[in-house]
Amino acid sequence: MAHPHDPPAATENAERLGGPLVVLTDVNKHFGELHVLKDIDMTVRRGEVVVVIGPSGSGKSTLCRAINRLEPIDSGTISIDGKELPAEGKDLARLRADVGMVFQSFNLFAHKTILENVTLGPTKVRGLKGHEAKKQAMDLLERVGVANQAGKHPAQLSGGQQQRVAIARALAMRPKVMLFDEPTSALDPEMITEVLDVMTSLAREGMTMIVVTHEMGFARKAADRVIFMDAGQIVEEATPEEFFTNPRSERAKDFLSKLL
Ligand code: ADP
Ligand code: MG
Repeated sequence: MAHPHDPPAATENAERLGGPLVVLTDVNKHFGELHVLKDIDMTVRRGEVVVVIGPSGSGKSTLCRAINRLEPIDSGTISIDGKELPAEGKDLARLRADVGMVFQSFNLFAHKTILENVTLGPTKVRGLKGHEAKKQAMDLLERVGVANQAGKHPAQLSGGQQQRVAIARALAMRPKVMLFDEPTSALDPEMITEVLDVMTSLAREGMTMIVVTHEMGFARKAADRVIFMDAGQIVEEATPEEFFTNPRSERAKDFLSKLL
């Protein structure tokens, strides 16, 4: 019999999740001769947390950047909430605002305060009034545990604090989906947990998330699905339970054995 604290079974997940939110169809991308994304088909449902893992150079960052159109694709389509992402133009700016992105390097504006970092996008792009943006920013900074740092500049904060500000800044745009590209890789070990904890609570609150990470503990705890990439291809997709206990492909087995 299922224990109340067991992770939800696949059937319960199916009920919790909504319809398709991020849909990639037959996406291909080259850098010169290098075929970095090969026939990528991927659907992320509303409320789903997908963890993308794979060896260095397998195309994980390029995949994230393509979803945000920071990187043009050669063929295929990418749509967010039913709308195909155009390559450029005003619609792109609007659709891109639906996708929050957090990178390995925190990318905060160095010359602005923490508060300004979080209010800037919403006032410029979402048209929020100053006092509304400020209230929202303080709520978000509270949520990620750095409200008491609001008047400081990024360099005065630890890496873990800066990364939590980066998460708050992305959330301030009210994205439909959050992309995380190795958000804890540049952090000292003692700061990794505080960032993963914020991400775990976001996941529990129902945020749709695509997370590239080597933090297998997070994948086991928070992911609905693990996607394993190698050499530009999606090699395997499974629940974390299946993937970690019984990987099907030799490439995944090899990758997992090297992590231990
Ligand atoms: P991952 O994030 O899985 O480590 P990336 O998506 O960063 O992989 O890179 C996939 C491949 O594409 C790598 O071989 C990398 O060297 C190459 N690559 C990434 N960005 C560029 C670029 N701007 N120009 C040329 N090659 C690139
Ligand atoms: Mg990468």
